[in-house]
Amino acid sequence: MNLIDMSTEGWTQEEVIEFRKLLNQQIKNARKESRHDACMLCGKKGGFCNSHTIPQFCLENIAWNGTLNSFNTLIDSELLANDSGVNNAGTFHIICKPCDGKAFQDYEKEAAFETRPTEKALNQIALKTALRDIYKHETELAMFEACKQMVKDKSPALAFFAQIMFNAQINAKKRDIQECYEVYNVSKSCLTNPKSWIRLVSYDKLDYTSPIAFQGMIALVTGVNGELINNNFNHKSNYKLEYLHIAIFPLKESTAVILFMDSHNTRYAHFENYIANITQEQRLKIINRIIFLYTEDYYLSKQLDSETINWLQETAKLIQDLATTDPKKSVKNAVKDYDLRRDICIPNLFSKEYAIKKATVDGSRTNQEE
Ligand SMILES: [Zn+2]
Repeated sequence: MNLIDMSTEGWTQEEVIEFRKLLNQQIKNARKESRHDACMLCGKKGGFCNSHTIPQFCLENIAWNGTLNSFNTLIDSELLANDSGVNNAGTFHIICKPCDGKAFQDYEKEAAFETRPTEKALNQIALKTALRDIYKHETELAMFEACKQMVKDKSPALAFFAQIMFNAQINAKKRDIQECYEVYNVSKSCLTNPKSWIRLVSYDKLDYTSPIAFQGMIALVTGVNGELINNNFNHKSNYKLEYLHIAIFPLKESTAVILFMDSHNTRYAHFENYIANITQEQRLKIINRIIFLYTEDYYLSKQLDSETINWLQETAKLIQDLATTDPKKSVKNAVKDYDLRRDICIPNLFSKEYAIKKATVDGSRTNQEE
Protein backbone atom coordinates (compact mmCIF):
# COMPACT_ATOMS: atom_id res chain seq x y z
CA MET A 1 0.00 0.00 0.00
CA ASN A 2 3.01 2.24 0.43
CA LEU A 3 4.43 1.52 -2.98
CA ILE A 4 5.74 4.63 -4.64
CA ASP A 5 6.95 5.06 -8.16
CA MET A 6 10.69 4.54 -8.00
CA SER A 7 11.20 4.09 -11.71
CA THR A 8 14.15 6.06 -13.10
CA GLU A 9 13.42 5.37 -16.75
CA GLY A 10 14.63 8.29 -18.86
CA TRP A 11 16.79 9.75 -16.06
CA THR A 12 20.43 10.58 -16.63
CA GLN A 13 23.01 9.06 -14.27
CA GLU A 14 23.64 12.54 -12.83
CA GLU A 15 19.93 12.96 -12.07
CA VAL A 16 19.83 9.58 -10.30
CA ILE A 17 22.88 10.51 -8.19
CA GLU A 18 21.46 13.96 -7.43
CA PHE A 19 18.07 12.55 -6.41
CA ARG A 20 19.70 9.87 -4.24
CA LYS A 21 21.66 12.57 -2.44
CA LEU A 22 18.55 14.69 -1.92
CA LEU A 23 16.52 11.72 -0.70
CA ASN A 24 19.21 10.64 1.79
CA GLN A 25 19.52 14.20 3.06
CA GLN A 26 15.73 14.44 3.47
CA ILE A 27 15.62 11.17 5.42
CA LYS A 28 18.49 12.33 7.64
CA ASN A 29 16.78 15.67 8.34
CA ALA A 30 13.42 13.99 9.00
CA ARG A 31 15.03 11.57 11.49
CA LYS A 32 16.61 14.52 13.28
CA GLU A 33 13.35 16.44 13.24
CA SER A 34 11.29 13.54 14.62
CA ARG A 35 13.91 12.43 17.16
CA HIS A 36 12.58 11.64 20.64
CA ASP A 37 14.16 13.09 23.79
CA ALA A 38 13.80 10.02 25.92
CA CYS A 39 13.44 6.24 25.74
CA MET A 40 9.83 5.30 24.89
CA LEU A 41 9.86 2.55 27.52
CA CYS A 42 11.68 3.84 30.61
CA GLY A 43 11.63 7.59 29.93
CA LYS A 44 15.34 7.97 30.55
CA LYS A 45 17.08 10.61 28.47
CA GLY A 46 20.15 9.59 26.58
CA GLY A 47 21.24 7.34 23.78
CA PHE A 48 19.03 5.05 21.77
CA CYS A 49 20.10 1.68 20.52
CA ASN A 50 19.69 0.04 17.14
CA SER A 51 16.53 -2.01 17.84
CA HIS A 52 15.49 -4.82 15.52
CA THR A 53 11.81 -5.36 14.82
CA ILE A 54 12.14 -8.91 13.53
CA PRO A 55 14.41 -10.74 15.99
CA GLN A 56 17.94 -10.87 14.65
CA PHE A 57 18.19 -14.64 15.07
CA CYS A 58 15.28 -15.03 12.59
CA LEU A 59 17.04 -12.85 10.02
CA GLU A 60 20.24 -14.83 10.50
CA ASN A 61 18.35 -18.03 9.72
CA ILE A 62 17.63 -16.81 6.18
CA ALA A 63 20.65 -14.54 5.56
CA TRP A 64 23.28 -15.27 2.96
CA ASN A 65 26.72 -13.93 3.88
CA GLY A 66 25.01 -11.62 6.36
CA THR A 67 22.67 -10.00 3.83
CA LEU A 68 19.04 -10.30 2.80
CA ASN A 69 16.82 -9.14 -0.02
CA SER A 70 14.22 -6.53 0.76
CA PHE A 71 11.23 -4.97 -0.99
CA ASN A 72 13.67 -2.76 -2.86
CA THR A 73 15.01 -5.83 -4.65
CA LEU A 74 11.56 -6.34 -6.08
CA ILE A 75 10.97 -2.81 -7.31
CA ASP A 76 14.56 -2.80 -8.52
CA SER A 77 14.98 0.95 -8.17
CA GLU A 78 18.31 2.60 -8.70
CA LEU A 79 17.25 5.08 -6.04
CA LEU A 80 17.39 2.59 -3.19
CA ALA A 81 19.83 -0.08 -2.13
CA ASN A 82 18.75 -3.67 -2.81
CA ASP A 83 20.64 -5.40 -0.05
CA SER A 84 19.91 -5.23 3.61
CA GLY A 85 22.49 -6.28 6.12
CA VAL A 86 21.15 -8.30 9.04
CA ASN A 87 22.38 -5.54 11.36
CA ASN A 88 20.26 -2.77 9.89
CA ALA A 89 17.20 -4.63 8.53
CA GLY A 90 14.01 -3.08 9.94
CA THR A 91 15.72 -1.20 12.73
CA PHE A 92 14.54 1.82 14.73
CA HIS A 93 15.98 4.16 17.34
CA ILE A 94 13.56 5.24 20.07
CA ILE A 95 14.37 2.98 23.01
CA CYS A 96 17.51 2.53 25.10
CA LYS A 97 19.76 -0.53 25.15
CA PRO A 98 18.76 -1.83 28.63
CA CYS A 99 15.03 -1.67 27.66
CA ASP A 100 15.70 -3.31 24.29
CA GLY A 101 17.50 -6.15 26.04
CA LYS A 102 14.85 -6.62 28.73
CA ALA A 103 11.36 -5.86 27.39
CA PHE A 104 11.17 -8.42 24.58
CA GLN A 105 12.83 -11.47 26.11
CA ASP A 106 9.73 -13.63 25.91
CA TYR A 107 9.64 -13.60 22.14
CA GLU A 108 13.19 -12.95 21.02
CA LYS A 109 14.33 -16.56 21.36
CA GLU A 110 13.75 -19.70 19.28
CA ALA A 111 12.20 -21.52 22.23
CA ALA A 112 9.30 -19.03 22.32
CA PHE A 113 7.83 -20.66 19.23
CA GLU A 114 8.28 -24.34 19.98
CA THR A 115 4.63 -24.39 20.95
CA ARG A 116 1.83 -21.83 20.70
CA PRO A 117 3.23 -18.44 21.72
CA THR A 118 2.15 -17.07 25.08
CA GLU A 119 0.04 -13.93 25.39
CA LYS A 120 3.07 -12.28 26.99
CA ALA A 121 5.14 -12.99 23.87
CA LEU A 122 2.36 -11.72 21.56
CA ASN A 123 2.06 -8.54 23.63
CA GLN A 124 5.80 -7.95 23.22
CA ILE A 125 5.54 -8.52 19.46
CA ALA A 126 2.73 -5.93 19.28
CA LEU A 127 4.75 -3.45 21.34
CA LYS A 128 7.84 -3.78 19.20
CA THR A 129 5.81 -3.46 15.99
CA ALA A 130 4.10 -0.32 17.35
CA LEU A 131 7.47 1.24 18.29
CA ARG A 132 8.91 0.54 14.84
CA ASP A 133 5.79 1.95 13.14
CA ILE A 134 5.79 5.08 15.32
CA TYR A 135 9.44 5.65 14.35
CA LYS A 136 8.68 5.02 10.67
CA HIS A 137 5.49 7.12 10.46
CA GLU A 138 6.98 10.03 12.45
CA THR A 139 9.97 10.12 10.09
CA GLU A 140 7.64 10.03 7.06
CA LEU A 141 5.47 12.78 8.56
CA ALA A 142 8.53 14.98 9.02
CA MET A 143 9.49 14.28 5.40
CA PHE A 144 6.06 15.23 4.06
CA GLU A 145 6.11 18.43 6.11
CA ALA A 146 9.61 19.28 4.86
CA CYS A 147 8.58 18.66 1.24
CA LYS A 148 5.50 20.86 1.67
CA GLN A 149 7.67 23.62 3.10
CA MET A 150 10.18 23.19 0.30
CA VAL A 151 7.49 23.74 -2.36
CA LYS A 152 6.17 26.77 -0.45
CA ASP A 153 9.65 28.27 -0.10
CA LYS A 154 10.43 27.74 -3.74
CA SER A 155 7.37 29.63 -4.84
CA PRO A 156 4.82 31.31 -2.53
CA ALA A 157 2.39 31.12 -5.46
CA LEU A 158 2.48 27.34 -5.09
CA ALA A 159 1.55 27.41 -1.38
CA PHE A 160 -2.06 26.52 -2.13
CA PHE A 161 -1.03 23.57 -4.31
CA ALA A 162 1.42 22.44 -1.63
CA GLN A 163 -1.52 22.29 0.79
CA ILE A 164 -3.53 20.15 -1.60
CA MET A 165 -0.58 17.96 -2.50
CA PHE A 166 0.63 17.19 0.99
CA ASN A 167 -2.24 17.69 3.43
CA ALA A 168 -3.92 14.37 2.63
CA GLN A 169 -0.67 12.48 3.25
CA ILE A 170 0.10 14.50 6.35
CA ASN A 171 -3.34 13.82 7.82
CA ALA A 172 -3.14 10.13 6.97
CA LYS A 173 0.28 9.89 8.64
CA LYS A 174 -1.04 11.68 11.74
CA ARG A 175 -3.82 9.14 12.00
CA ASP A 176 -1.38 6.24 11.53
CA ILE A 177 0.77 7.65 14.32
CA GLN A 178 -2.21 8.05 16.65
CA GLU A 179 -3.33 4.47 15.99
CA CYS A 180 0.20 3.17 16.63
CA TYR A 181 0.30 5.04 19.94
CA GLU A 182 -2.89 3.24 20.98
CA VAL A 183 -1.24 -0.15 20.40
CA TYR A 184 1.92 1.13 22.10
CA ASN A 185 -0.02 2.33 25.17
CA VAL A 186 -1.93 -0.89 25.74
CA SER A 187 1.03 -3.21 25.07
CA LYS A 188 3.44 -1.11 27.14
CA SER A 189 1.09 -1.07 30.13
CA CYS A 190 0.82 -4.88 29.81
CA LEU A 191 4.56 -5.28 30.30
CA THR A 192 4.11 -4.55 33.98
CA ASN A 193 0.41 -5.06 34.43
CA PRO A 194 -0.70 -7.94 32.17
CA LYS A 195 -4.30 -7.99 31.04
CA SER A 196 -5.92 -9.89 28.26
CA TRP A 197 -6.36 -7.78 25.14
CA ILE A 198 -5.13 -10.16 22.44
CA ARG A 199 -6.89 -12.83 20.44
CA LEU A 200 -4.76 -15.41 18.64
CA VAL A 201 -6.28 -15.92 15.19
CA SER A 202 -3.98 -18.65 13.93
CA TYR A 203 -0.65 -20.27 14.69
CA ASP A 204 1.07 -22.44 12.10
CA LYS A 205 4.36 -24.19 12.52
CA LEU A 206 6.18 -25.57 9.49
CA ASP A 207 8.92 -28.17 9.86
CA TYR A 208 11.27 -26.34 7.50
CA THR A 209 12.67 -22.81 7.29
CA SER A 210 10.75 -20.55 4.91
CA PRO A 211 12.74 -17.88 3.04
CA ILE A 212 10.74 -14.93 4.39
CA ALA A 213 10.66 -12.94 7.63
CA PHE A 214 8.05 -10.37 8.58
CA GLN A 215 6.60 -8.65 11.61
CA GLY A 216 3.95 -6.00 11.34
CA MET A 217 0.37 -4.86 11.73
CA ILE A 218 -1.90 -4.45 8.74
CA ALA A 219 -5.35 -2.90 8.38
CA LEU A 220 -6.96 -5.29 5.90
CA VAL A 221 -9.26 -3.51 3.45
CA THR A 222 -11.24 -6.66 2.78
CA GLY A 223 -11.14 -10.36 3.53
CA VAL A 224 -12.30 -13.37 1.57
CA ASN A 225 -15.94 -12.47 1.14
CA GLY A 226 -15.83 -9.10 -0.63
CA GLU A 227 -16.67 -7.46 2.71
CA LEU A 228 -15.26 -4.09 3.77
CA ILE A 229 -13.06 -4.43 6.88
CA ASN A 230 -11.18 -1.12 6.93
CA ASN A 231 -12.15 1.97 5.02
CA ASN A 232 -8.85 3.82 4.66
CA PHE A 233 -10.71 6.76 3.21
CA ASN A 234 -12.86 7.37 6.27
CA HIS A 235 -10.98 10.06 8.17
CA LYS A 236 -13.68 10.73 10.77
CA SER A 237 -12.19 10.88 14.25
CA ASN A 238 -14.56 8.22 15.60
CA TYR A 239 -13.63 5.71 12.90
CA LYS A 240 -10.97 3.30 14.11
CA LEU A 241 -8.87 1.13 11.86
CA GLU A 242 -8.72 -2.48 13.00
CA TYR A 243 -5.32 -4.13 12.66
CA LEU A 244 -4.22 -7.69 12.08
CA HIS A 245 -0.81 -8.48 13.58
CA ILE A 246 1.31 -10.87 11.55
CA ALA A 247 4.58 -12.50 12.56
CA ILE A 248 6.53 -14.76 10.22
CA PHE A 249 9.58 -16.04 12.02
CA PRO A 250 11.99 -18.35 10.20
CA LEU A 251 13.60 -20.52 12.86
CA LYS A 252 16.59 -22.89 12.61
CA GLU A 253 14.64 -25.87 11.35
CA SER A 254 11.09 -24.61 11.30
CA THR A 255 8.92 -21.55 10.67
CA ALA A 256 6.34 -19.96 12.94
CA VAL A 257 3.47 -18.06 11.29
CA ILE A 258 1.24 -16.18 13.70
CA LEU A 259 -1.86 -14.04 13.24
CA PHE A 260 -3.34 -12.19 16.19
CA MET A 261 -5.36 -9.07 16.89
CA ASP A 262 -6.95 -6.83 19.49
CA SER A 263 -9.78 -8.87 20.98
CA HIS A 264 -12.07 -5.82 20.68
CA ASN A 265 -11.92 -5.98 16.87
CA THR A 266 -15.31 -6.77 15.37
CA ARG A 267 -14.97 -6.35 11.64
CA TYR A 268 -12.81 -9.45 11.05
CA ALA A 269 -15.50 -11.95 12.17
CA HIS A 270 -15.94 -13.55 8.75
CA PHE A 271 -12.24 -13.53 7.98
CA GLU A 272 -11.37 -15.15 11.32
CA ASN A 273 -13.98 -17.83 10.91
CA TYR A 274 -12.76 -18.58 7.40
CA ILE A 275 -9.10 -18.70 8.39
CA ALA A 276 -9.85 -21.07 11.26
CA ASN A 277 -11.70 -23.56 9.07
CA ILE A 278 -9.41 -24.06 6.10
CA THR A 279 -6.35 -26.26 5.69
CA GLN A 280 -2.94 -25.00 6.75
CA GLU A 281 -1.87 -24.86 3.11
CA GLN A 282 -4.84 -22.67 2.15
CA ARG A 283 -4.30 -20.44 5.18
CA LEU A 284 -0.62 -19.87 4.40
CA LYS A 285 -1.49 -19.06 0.80
CA ILE A 286 -3.78 -16.29 2.06
CA ILE A 287 -1.17 -14.98 4.51
CA ASN A 288 1.44 -14.99 1.73
CA ARG A 289 -0.99 -13.00 -0.43
CA ILE A 290 -1.63 -10.47 2.36
CA ILE A 291 2.12 -9.89 2.79
CA PHE A 292 2.76 -9.12 -0.85
CA LEU A 293 -0.42 -7.09 -1.35
CA TYR A 294 -0.08 -4.87 1.68
CA THR A 295 3.45 -4.59 2.92
CA GLU A 296 6.99 -3.73 2.02
CA ASP A 297 8.69 -4.54 5.30
CA TYR A 298 9.44 -8.19 4.62
CA TYR A 299 12.87 -9.71 4.18
CA LEU A 300 13.65 -12.47 1.75
CA SER A 301 16.44 -14.98 1.56
CA LYS A 302 18.99 -14.49 -1.16
CA GLN A 303 18.62 -18.18 -1.89
CA LEU A 304 15.45 -17.48 -3.85
CA ASP A 305 16.15 -18.11 -7.52
CA SER A 306 15.93 -15.33 -10.09
CA GLU A 307 12.76 -16.80 -11.62
CA THR A 308 10.92 -16.48 -8.29
CA ILE A 309 12.33 -12.99 -7.73
CA ASN A 310 11.10 -11.96 -11.22
CA TRP A 311 7.70 -13.39 -10.42
CA LEU A 312 7.55 -11.44 -7.16
CA GLN A 313 8.65 -8.30 -9.03
CA GLU A 314 5.67 -8.65 -11.35
CA THR A 315 3.44 -8.93 -8.29
CA ALA A 316 4.91 -5.80 -6.73
CA LYS A 317 4.10 -3.91 -9.93
CA LEU A 318 0.48 -5.06 -9.70
CA ILE A 319 0.00 -3.39 -6.36
CA GLN A 320 -1.87 -0.19 -6.84
CA ASP A 321 -1.41 3.00 -4.94
CA LEU A 322 -4.63 3.77 -3.11
CA ALA A 323 -4.04 7.52 -3.03
CA THR A 324 -6.82 9.16 -4.98
CA THR A 325 -9.16 12.08 -4.70
CA ASP A 326 -12.47 10.24 -5.03
CA PRO A 327 -13.09 8.42 -1.73
CA LYS A 328 -16.28 6.65 -2.82
CA LYS A 329 -14.75 5.29 -5.96
CA SER A 330 -11.58 4.44 -4.12
CA VAL A 331 -13.07 2.36 -1.36
CA LYS A 332 -15.00 0.35 -3.96
CA ASN A 333 -11.86 -0.12 -6.02
CA ALA A 334 -9.83 -0.93 -2.95
CA VAL A 335 -12.17 -3.74 -1.93
CA LYS A 336 -11.83 -5.13 -5.45
CA ASP A 337 -8.04 -4.68 -5.59
CA TYR A 338 -7.39 -6.22 -2.21
CA ASP A 339 -9.90 -9.07 -2.48
CA LEU A 340 -7.97 -12.03 -1.09
CA ARG A 341 -9.88 -14.36 -3.40
CA ARG A 342 -8.54 -12.43 -6.39
CA ASP A 343 -6.87 -14.67 -8.88
CA ILE A 344 -3.39 -13.24 -8.89
CA CYS A 345 -0.56 -15.65 -9.10
CA ILE A 346 1.94 -15.06 -6.29
CA PRO A 347 4.57 -17.70 -5.51
CA ASN A 348 3.70 -19.13 -2.13
CA LEU A 349 6.95 -18.78 -0.19
CA PHE A 350 5.61 -21.05 2.55
CA SER A 351 5.69 -24.04 0.15
CA LYS A 352 8.29 -26.65 0.92
CA GLU A 353 9.89 -26.13 -2.50
CA TYR A 354 11.17 -22.73 -1.30
CA ALA A 355 12.55 -24.00 2.03
CA ILE A 356 15.99 -22.74 2.97
CA LYS A 357 18.77 -25.11 2.08
CA LYS A 358 21.23 -25.54 4.88
CA ALA A 359 24.98 -25.21 4.47
CA THR A 360 26.90 -28.45 4.90
CA VAL A 361 30.26 -28.76 6.63
CA ASP A 362 32.17 -28.34 3.35
CA GLY A 363 30.29 -25.09 2.66
CA SER A 364 28.02 -26.36 -0.14
CA ARG A 365 24.26 -26.13 0.18
CA THR A 366 21.96 -29.06 0.55
CA ASN A 367 18.23 -29.46 0.83
CA GLN A 368 16.91 -29.40 4.38
CA GLU A 369 15.21 -32.77 3.90
CA GLU A 370 18.47 -34.54 3.10
ZN1 LIG B 1 14.71 2.65 28.29
